[in-house]
Amino acid sequence: MKKQEIVLTGDRPTGPLHLGHLVGSLQNRVKLQDLYKQYVMIADVQAMTDNFENPAKVRENVMEVMLDYLAVGIDPNKTDFFIQSMIPEIAELTVFFLNLVTVSRLMRNPTVKTEIKARGFEESIPAGFLMYPVSQAADITIVKGTLIPVGEDQIPVIEQTNEIIRSFNRLYQVNVFPEAQPLISRVARLMGIDGQAKMSKSLSNAIFLSDSPDVLKKRVMSMYTDQNHIRVEDPGQIEGNVVFTYLDAFDPDTIKVAEFKRHYQRGGLGDVKIKQYLFDVLNQLLTPIREKRAEYAQERGEVMKILLQGTDRVRQVAAQTMSEVRTSLKLNY
Ligand code: ATP
Ligand code: MG
Repeated sequence: MKKQEIVLTGDRPTGPLHLGHLVGSLQNRVKLQDLYKQYVMIADVQAMTDNFENPAKVRENVMEVMLDYLAVGIDPNKTDFFIQSMIPEIAELTVFFLNLVTVSRLMRNPTVKTEIKARGFEESIPAGFLMYPVSQAADITIVKGTLIPVGEDQIPVIEQTNEIIRSFNRLYQVNVFPEAQPLISRVARLMGIDGQAKMSKSLSNAIFLSDSPDVLKKRVMSMYTDQNHIRVEDPGQIEGNVVFTYLDAFDPDTIKVAEFKRHYQRGGLGDVKIKQYLFDVLNQLLTPIREKRAEYAQERGEVMKILLQGTDRVRQVAAQTMSEVRTSLKLNY
């Protein structure tokens, strides 16, 4: 018998989505919606934890992210989309979960550590930012999520979620929450166009799903390749070379990619030529997404309606979960 999974994922509306999101989790979501009950959350509350001084940016990007979801084929007839801030039960549950986590445990979380560093928060970490893994545990458990398609950087956050779940069930002698399991894709972490380990909005090294062909061309042409590959006839290195990493991630023609690799390694294949080829591959992938996105962008009112309808449905699920939580905590007055 097929295992019954509840799928929960989401993204922070801090900018439009990029190729890292596409291979890291969006492609999985398109598949999972045909197999399981799937929820996709727009994490505006979490976006506020490091964008609290710029709420307009978060607000604008709720629609951008939603357009990206629809454009890649996440289907509102199969998936419930919702806005995190419109489910107050998540905030409520976070408060109860905060008692089950220590500050030192949060400080040791590798995802949090990396992100604190990236944002220059070492000197003064906003409390809201430090506790975001607890809020993420509430996002997952409010719908009793069991399968979480994410990039590899999120594994520690899911481990943290399971620690909270175990504590809750053990302390209150209940079995309210099932454990959650990350689903990591074939490309667990896509590098940035500058060769940095991770493509990310905040590192300015992303190719966005909504980029025009011109912008895409510029980004591909600026990619980091092999510093020592100066003349076309020189042998080139493919390890750590962004162009070949992306061909591995996005070109279905693996035989051709293998040929190009051999040619590059022995010399005689120029960077411009191989970048032109990569541009064609990516443009072919992104053209239908771009076109669908433009269509939905004409119907922003309808798109917002889809999001609010999904939110209404999740609100009911959340109320049911909180009723069980209140009973567990003897707060069912
Ligand atoms: P920000 O810079 O605002 O943190 P981001 O580009 O890192 O944005 P997030 O919204 O933090 O994106 O990530 C959302 C989801 O996408 C997470 O599951 C994350 O693991 C996944 N993801 C993001 N970037 C990548 C990437 N380069 N490779 C694989 N997965 C990724
Ligand atoms: Mg991030």
